[in-house]
Amino acid sequence: MIAAGIYKVTGENMKHQNQQRRMLLKSMGGAVLAGVLPRVAFSSSRTIPMGETILHVLSDGYLSLPANRLFDSPERADEAAVLFEQAGLSTEEFSPPLNITLLQSEDKLVLFDLGSGSQFLDTAGLLPSALESIEVDPADVTDVVFTHAHPDHCWGLLDDFDDLLCPEATYHMHGKEFDHWMSEDTLNNSDEGSLAMVAGARNRLPLIEDRLQRFNWGDELLPGVEAVDSRGHTPGHTSFAIHQGNDSVMVLGDALIHPVLSFQRPDWPWITDQNTDDAVATRKRLLDRLFTDKMQMIGYHLPESGVGSVEQHEGNYHYVAG
Ligand SMILES: [Zn+2]
Repeated sequence: MIAAGIYKVTGENMKHQNQQRRMLLKSMGGAVLAGVLPRVAFSSSRTIPMGETILHVLSDGYLSLPANRLFDSPERADEAAVLFEQAGLSTEEFSPPLNITLLQSEDKLVLFDLGSGSQFLDTAGLLPSALESIEVDPADVTDVVFTHAHPDHCWGLLDDFDDLLCPEATYHMHGKEFDHWMSEDTLNNSDEGSLAMVAGARNRLPLIEDRLQRFNWGDELLPGVEAVDSRGHTPGHTSFAIHQGNDSVMVLGDALIHPVLSFQRPDWPWITDQNTDDAVATRKRLLDRLFTDKMQMIGYHLPESGVGSVEQHEGNYHYVAG
């Protein structure tokens, strides 16, 4: 998730727009009308073969916010402007993609997060089309593994008809994450800007509670899938190291969001991290592991398909796409 403040506006707007959209879809037939009301163009998926297993990176669309919202001081904004110029990034706008990983093995289809669904932003919610483009029926998905429960990761739990997108799946989430969103304290302590986000999680998570498997950091929650502690962005935020033979790939979630700041300035606060100290410690720990182990990674919001690795130059870590 990128900015809590945008939920207030977009949540209400999209709700109305989506009510109309759902009514139309119900009355005219989803498959036909889906072509009449396109959301945004679907970008093609990326695949990473790992022995008998294939990782697909699917696009759920993208988000956008002004770049000046990313900084807590004019000094940091100035410093970042120089870094962005060097990296060829816009200094006006930050428009990160939403990259969802699908693990396909002989007997499993595992989605890591479910995207935004149709009630969040009109630039997002493309996962169902992305699955269709690789001929995967959501009903065949065996497992859904959540990094955390922000809207761009879990609102896609419901399809256009408010039914579960993956009706046969077993769901996996860190117990702390589930409890955080369902806690009355979280609801009562929410400011106006984040209320829609909290309500969105609380409307959805109970729908999967009877088929939810809570995991802890360090668990192998599925064969070859290690839950890696990446708390800070949210209390139970988790990254996943996928191991197959000698290959390992880290599904980061939102532990490393920005291709410059998260890597070159990991100790700067990030606008939507709930606990800055934990998030900074997580970034440093992950960067060290990814660099030391030369591990490929998939960033939910890193550019294009978010596939890349970590290198080190002049004392700073750098993101390298590819
Ligand atoms: Zn996110």
